[in-house]
Amino acid sequence: MTFESAEPLFTSRKALVDRLAEPRVYDLAVIGGGATGLGVALDAAARGFSVVLVESHDFAKGTSSRATKLVHGGVRYLAQGNISLVREALHERSTLLANAPHLAQPLPFVMPSYKFWESPFYGVGLKIYDALAGKEGLGNTEFLNRAETLAHLPTLQPHGLRGGVKYWDGQFDDARLALALARTAARHGALLVNYCAATRLIHEGDKVVGLGVEDRETGHSHELHAGCVVNATGVWVDRLRLQDGQAIGREAKPIVAPSQGVHIVVDREFLPTDHALLIPKTADGRVLFAVPWLGKIILGTTDTPRRDLAREPLPFREEVDFILRESARYLRRAPGLADVKSIWVGLRPLVKPVDDDTDRTKSLSREHTVLVSKSGLVTVTGGKWTTYRAMASDVLEKCFEADLLPMRTKMSTDQLRLVGAQSMGVPLSSPPGLHLYGCEAKMVQAMPGAGNQLGGGLSEAMVRFAARHEYARTVEDVLARRSRLLFLDAALAQILAPAVANLLQQENGIGAQLELFLKLCEQYLTVPAAA
Ligand SMILES: Cc1cc2nc3c(=O)[nH]c(=O)nc-3n(C[C@H](O)[C@H](O)[C@H](O)COP(=O)(O)OP(=O)(O)OC[C@H]3O[C@@H](n4cnc5c(N)ncnc54)[C@H](O)[C@@H]3O)c2cc1C
Repeated sequence: MTFESAEPLFTSRKALVDRLAEPRVYDLAVIGGGATGLGVALDAAARGFSVVLVESHDFAKGTSSRATKLVHGGVRYLAQGNISLVREALHERSTLLANAPHLAQPLPFVMPSYKFWESPFYGVGLKIYDALAGKEGLGNTEFLNRAETLAHLPTLQPHGLRGGVKYWDGQFDDARLALALARTAARHGALLVNYCAATRLIHEGDKVVGLGVEDRETGHSHELHAGCVVNATGVWVDRLRLQDGQAIGREAKPIVAPSQGVHIVVDREFLPTDHALLIPKTADGRVLFAVPWLGKIILGTTDTPRRDLAREPLPFREEVDFILRESARYLRRAPGLADVKSIWVGLRPLVKPVDDDTDRTKSLSREHTVLVSKSGLVTVTGGKWTTYRAMASDVLEKCFEADLLPMRTKMSTDQLRLVGAQSMGVPLSSPPGLHLYGCEAKMVQAMPGAGNQLGGGLSEAMVRFAARHEYARTVEDVLARRSRLLFLDAALAQILAPAVANLLQQENGIGAQLELFLKLCEQYLTVPAAA
């Protein structure tokens, strides 16, 4: 079955909530609309199961819109000798690039070398990376001399530069990919509702049989019943696990050790190229990326243990200083605080051994974990965006093993093209625009306001399309996740916000939370004070 170019479904809130209120028993209920939950919903719906998914905020509001935007096999994990993880991720990389070519594409990386051993050392590792990818490789690793390295990265610090290594991975638009997953799952019959939080689990005896949910717009409550309940709430999974444990009289121990990652966005002039820069080992042994993305450069990231689980975590000044300081060592013109266009923070759901209470995060598992509790609550967390599809398949296998779902063979999601899938021949390093809609671009152009450009690649028609077909309810939904302006240029997002709010009000008939969004823009523009 192929839906990528069909007429878009309407995502009218009233129709979604009316369906939610219908009394029925779903095969599967998924809690959490990030990469993981959406991947599970899509896989299950594609196999013909009846599926409902609830997301307490917007799809991808959590970690899934805050990635470094790399579709990667994980060169780092290769260095740790984790071959199976790398091989699986390389396969997933190629699958994703094939199924959503408008949102995920190959990206060349250059690792510069300033020490004599760096090129041979990293080059050999990357040749192994190519070999593991086999036919799914995106391009061969090449050794570069000094002049070639500078030709690829014209603003790289030339002092002491000896050469470099070029290799290939992928990049993507994470929040738009999440939406494409949601919309493709809906095409397969799944009911997905954002702004609808799971407030409690429903147990019968010691079995979980459903969940209570609250519509965050109206405050109305509903009960959803399902043969199988999947907790895919990212760094927040322990809340439901602990509730589940209490309900059946079995104490559950927390499994997530959150780790914070900060990204800083600067103008393209700091690295005017289609190649990404990777420093595998900074002065203090960390990895630094400078990635061209949607017309800007993303610099990052950090890995800082964190105990609280804020929806909008704040960066630490030390993290911002680290990124700017290290970027300054490798870029001819050092970006300073005044050059920052946006700072965003995401929480990695790293999984710790149950008896580990330490704050170390670099050594924790970056693989995913699927647990089935005594009550039958299935929890999935960890992993990475790139492997969402493999994680989903694993979750369903576990559901079959535990008899929570009748065994049903896979309708292979490895060939399931996502809504919009069509390469538009525009690299993701280019500024945002219609190319991100793939074959739906012409449908966007047919909407009212196609000629009215609001700025930053966003048109009136795109806002209307977001409201009618992409579940957008608030200004933030549009400017943070349908368009990515909050992440690219928070000051411009702030300027466009009133016009977007006005259009959403016309489309949805309710306020679009303009004031809250303006405050959020301030946060993304604010460099924290030094400690
Ligand atoms: C800084 C950083 C950089 C990264 N870079 C990359 C990268 O380049 N490539 C890559 O492959 N991976 C990357 N990752 C990893 C990847 O982003 C995550 O593994 C992935 O997004 C996790 O998705 P998730 O669905 O499990 O969690 P989330 O995206 O956080 O989704 C969980 C959802 O559950 C919702 N929720 C919580 N409680 C409830 C409730 N009670 N009811 C309903 N909904 C609820 C939340 O609102 C949230 O939307 C990065 C991660 C970080 C932090």
